[in-house]
This record gives sequence, C-alpha cells and structure tokens, in this order.
Amino acid sequence: MTRANPRKFVVFTVAGAGIGLGAFMAVRFVRASGGLAGELETRTLVDAETGDVLADIRLPTGATYPFEHPKTGRATLYPAERCHWTADGDATLTPTYVLLNAYTGTDGPTMCPDCGRVVVAHNPLPPDELMIEAAEREGG
Ligand SMILES: [Zn+2]
Repeated sequence: MTRANPRKFVVFTVAGAGIGLGAFMAVRFVRASGGLAGELETRTLVDAETGDVLADIRLPTGATYPFEHPKTGRATLYPAERCHWTADGDATLTPTYVLLNAYTGTDGPTMCPDCGRVVVAHNPLPPDELMIEAAEREGG
C-alpha cells in the first residue's frame, strides 16, 4: 500500500463528513437550545464556490463554518471580512466583502480584490479621520 492512498481517502472522508456533520450539528444545536429565544447572530457570509455575498444572514449561535448555502445546499459559506479601503487610499463606507484564504485552506495572505491590501480576520477599519471623511463624502 502506498502512503498517498490512505491520505486521499481520509481527506475525502473528512470533507464529506464535514458537510453532513455541519448540517447535523446545526439542527442539533437549534433543538438543544430551543429555550433560548433570540440567540441568533447576524453575519455577512461569502460563498467560496459561487462568490455570492449573503448579507445579514441569521445564524444559530455556535454555528460552525462552512455553513450551508440555502440556494445550493452546499456547505460553502464562510464569514466575510470587510475591507473599507479604496484603491486610491481613501476609505469608503461601502465595504468590499472578502473571503479569507485561511478559511479555505489557501496558502498566503488574503488580498482585497478591490484595493489590493492584505485582509485579515477581524479586519481593522481605516483610521478614524478617513472613515469620517468617507462618511461626509458618501453620507449625503
Ligand atoms: Zn479593499
């Protein structure tokens, strides 16, 4: 037996089990916490396969990622990070939603497709003065 085959099998099995388990755990959690009304958090999610951005999705507390896309039924949704920079070095109130490489197992830093800056988990906002300028410019 080669070393490659069992490993492939394990990776495949884990991926398959992860999808099923995610759905199972979500259902189980909702049932287990049935008494805790309002225990929902709202997140913006991005789909790793389709690139869809789903704004303000209500997730059960403790939901695990990837989360199931309601349209495709596939567990490909991850929390989106927001980048509030523009390519010109200004801030904007309208963020670019970015999927972190870390979530998908892709090597290297995540670059914002809009401005080219590095995006990290809990991505920091541009400095206050730039956000205030953006608010004055875009706030109408
Ligand atoms: Zn950006």
